[in-house]
Amino acid sequence: MKRVKNIKPGLFLLFLLIIPTGLFTVVEVTSLSDQEQMIEAIYANQLDAVLYSINQYADDMVSSWSGNIHRRLAEGGDLAKIERDWPLKNPQVEFLSLIPWPDDSISLGIPQPALSELDREIRLRLQQNFSATHRLFTYLRGGYRKIAGIDLAYNTHLSMFVFALERDGERYISALVVDARRFIAEVLSPRMQAVAGDQLVLTVRHHSSGELVFSSDFNTVPESLTGEQAIWLLPDYLLGIQPVGMTIRDLARQRALRNIGLIVLVDLLLVIGALFFYRSVRRESRLAKIKSDFVSNVSHEIRTPLSLISMYAETLQMGRIKDEEKKYKYYDIIYREAQRLSGIVNNILNFSRIETGRRKFHFSQVDVNEVINSVLENYHYHLEKHHFQVENALDPTLTTIEGDREAITETVINLIDNAIKYSDELKWLKIRTGLKGAFIYIEIIDKGVGIPQREQTLIFDKFYRVTKGALAHHAKGSGLGLSIVQFIMQAHHGRIEVDSKEGKGSTFRLVFPIDKISKNQ
Ligand code: ADP
Repeated sequence: MKRVKNIKPGLFLLFLLIIPTGLFTVVEVTSLSDQEQMIEAIYANQLDAVLYSINQYADDMVSSWSGNIHRRLAEGGDLAKIERDWPLKNPQVEFLSLIPWPDDSISLGIPQPALSELDREIRLRLQQNFSATHRLFTYLRGGYRKIAGIDLAYNTHLSMFVFALERDGERYISALVVDARRFIAEVLSPRMQAVAGDQLVLTVRHHSSGELVFSSDFNTVPESLTGEQAIWLLPDYLLGIQPVGMTIRDLARQRALRNIGLIVLVDLLLVIGALFFYRSVRRESRLAKIKSDFVSNVSHEIRTPLSLISMYAETLQMGRIKDEEKKYKYYDIIYREAQRLSGIVNNILNFSRIETGRRKFHFSQVDVNEVINSVLENYHYHLEKHHFQVENALDPTLTTIEGDREAITETVINLIDNAIKYSDELKWLKIRTGLKGAFIYIEIIDKGVGIPQREQTLIFDKFYRVTKGALAHHAKGSGLGLSIVQFIMQAHHGRIEVDSKEGKGSTFRLVFPIDKISKNQ
């Protein structure tokens, strides 16, 4: 019965809360690495879009240059004049070459020793990229002046932008040679700074040498770049991007960790809440059980002396007993059982007075040894009836103490009662008093069933009874005795201690502090 009651809330919590939360956590945590990858991909796409916009910007700039040159050409400008004048207007442009197309020196590879070294290099690179160069006219016919970026080996700083032009059916290839670093620093950098803002670092590296040519923030040059791709028009330069402070992987991981942290926190709160709930439900069910046990135990305890009293009284009333000695014995039994009954009722009433704060103590000088002797005298019949052997070891030198005689008597009776109730075969009892350090003590020692270690602190709780063990089951009680004793001891500024071993016996010790004891010299 008890087990079912205790397991129910546990099972309820397990199935409705702990297992679903656990499963949810496992699923969430395992899917976090997928989420991490997804977030990484989303970030990478966004950064790609930023790089695209920079490339597009460079393309737009050079397109406006090419449109400008085309206009000059269409206006009938002289080729040599345009080649000479136009670069002067744009400091990043080093050289302009307008080559009528097709050009034999390029298509057939005929050497042109009269040309400058740079011009020869331009033609060599155009020859090496012949089909791509020729295709520029196909684009032009389609209405799109495509610009191709081609490196020059002549000087690592120089690059060229190549595009097709047409005037009155005549075709030209325009090779615009620029100082790549100036182009990056003067044309692209304002745009890159604006795009980077506070959150991104944009960099440009020279691909062949690895040299850092530009960074939107030279203070926080990232060690590894998330996205790095060749600039469309400057293939030997890599445009890189990175969020400020951390890599995308770090960002994704940070998010994942934060999520895990939150999940763990929520789990923890749930578990703590569940534990509280479980404990309070368990306490409630234990209290309910304790209450019903209390009623049945107390009824039993009252019924036993009552039935004895009525049985012996009836026998006497019928006048069947003639033997005076026997008669006396029956009266004595009736008297003792009535005493016991009043003891039980007193315990319950005392407890109720303690609970409602109405218990009062009347302090006077009390001789502890005298209290014990008087209790033993009263219990003489009871102890004899249970075949108890009693040993007395009272310290005759003890002084009186300031206490409530009635209350101290009650504590001793309770402890002797328990020693009798919880003794099995070895019916032996020892009462000892003494002085130890600053304390006077009373010990009640039995060789009874003993108390399991883990129960030893609980037995002083009200209603608490040890339900394990054969004797504990049939020895009836209210579970109030020790809690009353403890209350009385606290009122005397003392304490109750227990030493007990299961199956061996128990020692209950009442300890009164000496400074509360008035010397009676
Ligand atoms: P009860 O009315 O059950 O005796 P108590 O408060 O006096 O209530 O004792 C609480 C419990 O402590 C008892 O149910 C019993 O299990 C245990 N106990 C008390 N005294 C002894 C003892 N001398 N030996 C073994 N167990 C004891």
